Amino acid sequence: MTDFDAIVIGTGQAGPSLAFRLASKGMKVAVIERHLVGGTCVNTGCTPTKALVASAYAAQMARRAAEYGVAIAGEIGVDMKRVKERKDAIVAGSRDGLTSALESAENITLYRGHARFRSPREVETGAAPVRADLIFINVGGRARIPEMPGIDGVPYLANSSMMEIDFLPRHLIVVGGSYVGLEFGQMYRRFGSEVTIVEMERRLVHREDEDVSAALRDVLEREGVNVRLGAECVSFAKRDDGIVARLDCTEGAPEVAGSHVLLAVGRRPNTDDLGLGHAGVKCDERGYIVVDDELRTNVPGIWALGDCNGRGAFTHTAYNDFEVVAANLLERGRRRVSDRVAAYALYTDPPLGRVGMSVSEARKSGRRVLVGERPMTRVARAIEKGETQGFIRILVDGDSKEILGASLLGTGCDEAVHAILDLIYAKAPYTVMQRAMHIHPTVSEMFPTILGDLKPLD
Ligand SMILES: Cc1cc2nc3c(=O)[nH]c(=O)nc-3n(C[C@H](O)[C@H](O)[C@H](O)COP(=O)(O)OP(=O)(O)OC[C@H]3O[C@@H](n4cnc5c(N)ncnc54)[C@H](O)[C@@H]3O)c2cc1C
Repeated sequence: MTDFDAIVIGTGQAGPSLAFRLASKGMKVAVIERHLVGGTCVNTGCTPTKALVASAYAAQMARRAAEYGVAIAGEIGVDMKRVKERKDAIVAGSRDGLTSALESAENITLYRGHARFRSPREVETGAAPVRADLIFINVGGRARIPEMPGIDGVPYLANSSMMEIDFLPRHLIVVGGSYVGLEFGQMYRRFGSEVTIVEMERRLVHREDEDVSAALRDVLEREGVNVRLGAECVSFAKRDDGIVARLDCTEGAPEVAGSHVLLAVGRRPNTDDLGLGHAGVKCDERGYIVVDDELRTNVPGIWALGDCNGRGAFTHTAYNDFEVVAANLLERGRRRVSDRVAAYALYTDPPLGRVGMSVSEARKSGRRVLVGERPMTRVARAIEKGETQGFIRILVDGDSKEILGASLLGTGCDEAVHAILDLIYAKAPYTVMQRAMHIHPTVSEMFPTILGDLKPLD
């Protein structure tokens, strides 16, 4: 048994930063990672998918080159081996940098093994067990594989195995029409695959407002993605030339035949094989570790950060968890998870930038809501770029004048949305932005104009 001041389990988006901070305060820290340093974001999530999205965008723009007066002779081809090599190099750069930083850091010992609790203070590492009074769990999650007849008989893909693909699937069936499914769906269509997205809800990304779902469907269908809505995938079977997904649906064919299947139906936390019972750490019925507003578990001295606590499902929420815990533990701060404003992006092209409330959430809040909207066809920057799909919508509290939320679907909106996010954090009235001079030509320059023309939400 080796004694440490702190143990960090998992090297996702919260653990390493916390380990460096604790070590910088002179604490001896054990970090345990069972697989790839950097976790989901670096290896099989954000970084590789956004690298692949960039390749898909290049292919799309090459196909559209003539619209811009650029002549490309011959067919546009996509070299999937080269696409993967590019993605792998970007991922390796990030992972290797983090690995060597952890290995070389003073006061940090990196264990490469599966962590399992032996008691509330002791953890197995695959090598000698370790002991500490402070333990931070950052074990993240993995793709949820639904139990469906035939699933084990077909070579299905999930976000991790998708990263190994260096060929073009003839016809990719994407089960799940939410964030992960839409990004992969559009990307592979642009690489040249036939793509069918199967979604059991009546619309894509069903947590978003209906017009956002409809606009995204339009974007995808215009590029030739087949979208099957209200269709629940119930079983799979192998066919000579590929895979068949059988659907429970009232409209359309009861099956889709393709060459490959990607399961993008949600995530589950990596808490089932952590020995949490030996530590007495409580989980909810879905396996997420129960935490309070400062990310403390029910066991004193044990915290849970990142996707495994069910309080966020993004890299930035995991990183914010680190900031909350570090501030409260080391700087006598009083930061809370509930202080943060919901914010995320969907990296389709065009991207969706989201902050705060949707229209349906604003309606439910019972406030007097004002709305400002503008289609991207009336945004100069979008017209100049030839990327006019989507729209901007900003919601304002008619009484406090604070911004409640925004849905920005359009070119550059994953970046532009931060102007609104920061104003919400500042709790400033919308009139501050309405009177600000913004830079031309940008997407953000329209925010003051939109805020100057607010109407009651009907
Ligand atoms: C395809 C895809 C695309 C995504 N794109 C985005 C995006 O664009 N933006 C965004 O914000 N988010 C995105 N996400 C979500 C993001 O990747 C996660 O929210 C983020 O990685 C969560 O980090 P985490 O710190 O909770 O844990 P993770 O990054 O999942 O890391 C957990 C680590 O713990 C290790 N571990 C687990 N159990 C043990 C154990 N018992 N012992 C030792 N080690 C263990 C794992 O091996 C892993 O390395 C995406 C996710 C996917 C799947």
